[in-house]
Amino acid sequence: MTPSSPVSALTIAGSDSGGGAGIQADLKAFAAHRVHGLSAIAALTAQNTGGVTAVHVPPLDFLQAQIDACFADFDIHAVKLGMLANAEVIDLVADALEKHRPPHVVLDPVMVATSGARLLEENALEAMRARLIPLATLLTPNIPEAELLLGRRIVTAEDAEDAADALLELGAGAVLLKGGHLDEGSRVIDRYFDGVTREEFIHTRLPVDAHGTGCTLASAIAAQLCQGLSLPNACEAAIDYVARGLHAGYYPGRSEVLVIDHF
Ligand code: PLP
Repeated sequence: MTPSSPVSALTIAGSDSGGGAGIQADLKAFAAHRVHGLSAIAALTAQNTGGVTAVHVPPLDFLQAQIDACFADFDIHAVKLGMLANAEVIDLVADALEKHRPPHVVLDPVMVATSGARLLEENALEAMRARLIPLATLLTPNIPEAELLLGRRIVTAEDAEDAADALLELGAGAVLLKGGHLDEGSRVIDRYFDGVTREEFIHTRLPVDAHGTGCTLASAIAAQLCQGLSLPNACEAAIDYVARGLHAGYYPGRSEVLVIDHF
């Protein structure tokens, strides 16, 4: 690597043919942060702004080959994990992380798309808890994902605060519990907790149906970690990035779904 070469981040996630979420959003976020983006595609979705019409999970040895090709060549500072589809894929990814030990792992525990499509098989939850979460530097669930991981409802601000603590006990280094699905008036509160530092990142809620925010946020955090920011600072900067991207967003398809502008 020459001094002027950007550092690399790897996304292991699902492809969104509609270009709003998944690998496509991840690579755009990496590029916008001047980080070289690598990708290992764990699942392919046939998808547009109307929803997901089909899912294909490539053979495991092909996913392995993509991951091995990336680690064999690049200096990978951060790995972002998104849609992993099933328990077998999770096991393979966990093995790869244990072998390569990248400095940062940002785990977006993708389970169900906003459109309602399942992106993780129901029986894979245990593998996510047992194998992947303990390897994560940061876990970034939204409220429905946190409810599934904890097996309890999160309705009030107090529930969310308790949930951030309980999620940390699952073994990740830190948790960013995204509050977009919680009704806290005109504000969205994302709660960060790493056992020592507790932060609330607050934004005004935009009255839009947006696509790919979770993927973009996790990738922007991974990119900021590559640039040397601390974990809470990386979260704050990435949350601002997504908020600015939503303000500048656009409607590329026939459905009224806003896609983030990456700049
Ligand atoms: N499709 C893929 C491949 C994803 O990884 C994600 C990420 O969460 C989604 C769709 C869901 O995006 P959203 O819930 O923002 O529609």
